[in-house]
Amino acid sequence: LARLRRRLAGSQNTLARALADLLSVDKIDDETWDDFESTLIASDLGVGPATELVENLRKALAVGGVADPAAARKALRGELIKIVGPDMSRDLNLDHAESVPAVVMMVGVNGTGKTTTVGKLGRMLVAQGRTVLFGAADTFRAAAAEQLTTWGERVGVRTVRGDEGADPASVAFNAVDEGITEGVDVVLVDTAGRLHTKVGLMDELGKVKRVIEKKAPVNEVLLVIDATTGQNGLTQARIFAEVVDITGIVLTKLDGSAKGGIVVQVQRELGVPVKFIGLGEGPDDLAPFDAAQFVDGLLG
Ligand code: GDP
Repeated sequence: LARLRRRLAGSQNTLARALADLLSVDKIDDETWDDFESTLIASDLGVGPATELVENLRKALAVGGVADPAAARKALRGELIKIVGPDMSRDLNLDHAESVPAVVMMVGVNGTGKTTTVGKLGRMLVAQGRTVLFGAADTFRAAAAEQLTTWGERVGVRTVRGDEGADPASVAFNAVDEGITEGVDVVLVDTAGRLHTKVGLMDELGKVKRVIEKKAPVNEVLLVIDATTGQNGLTQARIFAEVVDITGIVLTKLDGSAKGGIVVQVQRELGVPVKFIGLGEGPDDLAPFDAAQFVDGLLG
């Protein structure tokens, strides 16, 4: 928690700065509220949610023109928690039959942090005492399988891979098949994320999922979004949601971005929860998403 606070607060935090500005004035008037609303929009909260939040705040503070900064800070925290953490289950669904592992697919545009997140998640699950297998179904990027294998060695998980250019669906199938043979608890499947041909992507991810389902139900499809890409992340989310049913979001690189507001937009857009956040490049830099902690981190 302390690390999360440090990471979020250490990033270029426009929201914290805006709040500091808000609190540095003696009286909060219409102009202060307008400035604050603009800052919320700039931190990727979206126009609708930002306006709603400021309206709710003003109502909560029951003021016409002027508000007390201390009361504003407290009310802001409450409103942000409500807006950032709508009531949705954020637990990873790992239910599975005894003879069949739970399957988690990681999807997202290349470079967002998919492979890294598979590694970190593997570490987390192993630490929880689960047995895990990685499937390297990103067979297009030459280095992807190598990178995942290295992560596997780092966190104590074996990686099932195919030859370069192999059919991603067949690698995923083999990974789940070996997972069944070995009796592991969870198979984490890394996938490719080339967006240049949407039809290709649609075919491919759909096929990977269908082929896995010949062997085992897919518990989770986690969409990885890079928080530093702002509105682009939202566009990607829309495209992926058309292609495959997303069950949760992993928001990466929050250590390098103040634009945590994208959490709000992407949850509203897809109607699925942010389940994890990425806070760095190391194996332990993944945290389950917690709205109150997140807001406290943003507020610095
Ligand atoms: P993929 O192409 O989606 O599989 O992306 P990678 O897992 O290869 O990650 C791309 C780059 O982002 C790598 O340099 C990672 O170390 C880095 N990265 C991934 N997650 C995070 C994070 O949460 N914070 C930071 N700072 N970097 C990250």
